Amino acid sequence: MSAKKLPRVAYFCMEYALESSFKIYSGGLGILAGDYLKGVKDHGYPMVGIGIRWKQGYGEQLVDGATGKVYDAYRNASHEFLEDTGVTVEVEIKSRPVKVKVWRVNSYGVDSLYLLDTDIEENDGEARWITGQLYGWFGEERVAQEMVLGIGGVRALQALRIKPDVYHFNEGHALFAGFELMHQRMAKGATFEAAWARTREEVVFTTHTPIVQGNESHPIDRFMYLGANLGMTKAQLKQLGGSPFNMTVGALRLSRISNAVADLHRVTSNKMWKHIEGRSEIIGITNAIHRPTWVDPRMLDLAEACDGSKKAKDALWKAHMDNKRKLIHFVESRTGVKLDAECLLIGFSRRAAPYKRSNFIFTDRKFIEPLLKSGRLQIVFSGKAHPLDDNGKRIVENILEMTKRYPGSVVFLENYDMEIGRMLTRGSDVWLNNPRRPKEASGTSGMKAAMNGVLNLSILDGWWPEACQHGVNGWQFGDGFESEDESVLDRHDFKAFKKVLADEVLPTYYDRRDAWMDMMVASIRSTRDAFGVQRMLDEYYDRMYKRSAR
Ligand SMILES: *Cc1c(COP(=O)(O)O)cnc(C)c1O
Repeated sequence: MSAKKLPRVAYFCMEYALESSFKIYSGGLGILAGDYLKGVKDHGYPMVGIGIRWKQGYGEQLVDGATGKVYDAYRNASHEFLEDTGVTVEVEIKSRPVKVKVWRVNSYGVDSLYLLDTDIEENDGEARWITGQLYGWFGEERVAQEMVLGIGGVRALQALRIKPDVYHFNEGHALFAGFELMHQRMAKGATFEAAWARTREEVVFTTHTPIVQGNESHPIDRFMYLGANLGMTKAQLKQLGGSPFNMTVGALRLSRISNAVADLHRVTSNKMWKHIEGRSEIIGITNAIHRPTWVDPRMLDLAEACDGSKKAKDALWKAHMDNKRKLIHFVESRTGVKLDAECLLIGFSRRAAPYKRSNFIFTDRKFIEPLLKSGRLQIVFSGKAHPLDDNGKRIVENILEMTKRYPGSVVFLENYDMEIGRMLTRGSDVWLNNPRRPKEASGTSGMKAAMNGVLNLSILDGWWPEACQHGVNGWQFGDGFESEDESVLDRHDFKAFKKVLADEVLPTYYDRRDAWMDMMVASIRSTRDAFGVQRMLDEYYDRMYKRSAR
């Protein structure tokens, strides 16, 4: 595609994961946005990103060794590599002007990401804290952050003389950008309805959360008090997002088309929002990853060249074992535990949320204990809880207990970040994923694993139903079973898991190494293009951004 003919896009997201140490990200949403913009640069698409320069980023996870309790810590970052655009815009919050400075990121694989920052001298203490902590708060502070992203973002683009054809809201956090576009039209005399209809034409929206409670909402009075309404009345706000105001509902009504992030997620989202009148259609565009960030090029090349000969497979296995030893070394340097390179290694790293069932594998001790104690299985965990989620912290504490019960076979890596993600999805033998279907929207860590020849062992949720060829490029368990009754679902899934692990995964690893290597090759070959960022970007242009897409 020639860049001239393509629409110019402004992509809005609260977080971007570009580099492990650049902590303006928390998890999957940021990973997707970071990989997206790297793909944009690699392939020359006309797109800019808008985000926030988080002074303290997301909470850093600390574990108190003595009590086994989990804490969050925050540190100021200086980000000296950011380029000063010289542009400052203003957003009125609580009837006071807040200055928003605009930085440009021109490193870490992107060149057109603009970050907004209120931590500047012109602002008072309260305003300086708005861009302090990513997802640090729920209420007023969160709305203020989103006002900076959305309203500040549109004004920053105008000050930079960038005129997008399409505004892409990656999650509902960016919704106030739509309010600002409407506001500017209403200021020129358009009615609310006309401004809404016109703005809808230039907005597209991606939803990520198949859990109702995960979709942020606010009392309308909060918007009025902070000035997020931008002159709209309560009744008008209610027409957009309901009352309380749901950010996802608002975005579905303020966009010409929306998408979910996998095909199964499309089905789930359409069910979830079917009662919302006047919403845009939700299509499915499955997530993907930026290969150069996550995948060992040796694995791609060796799988490509593999002719099924013993020599070719040995070379692939050797490269994998090199990655596995690097992981083992990394684990030792972080925890003091030395894992065994000859023993099957399962990797699991996920945000600690109940639906992801981080401690699923410990469901039946009688089954798992002999495997862990006999040296046939070892597991490396990592994962953070949301800073305000005490249940999530309990999940982490429970896994920490397991590391004490099975020393040497179960380890936990503190403070999950891109570096840990990269080590684990390269050096594990198996990548375990056991969410309660259909709650995992897509998941991208399994794609990283698959392209590194790390075999997925996963519930049929998120992206996996689109990729899985059971016994060929990885394994599924659970057969797509769903139940509202969590204990029924958990029992069903564990029974299925046990069977696949005992009858297929372990025997293939220990007794049929040749078949295992064939699966590694199939895993890499079947995912590298289908879940690479170029396919995803092409789909967004063809199905969302182009006018003809509608
Ligand atoms: C890949 C990655 C994610 C997203 O993975 P999921 O499969 O969606 O859980 C989150 N955090 C980090 C650090 C990652 O590397």
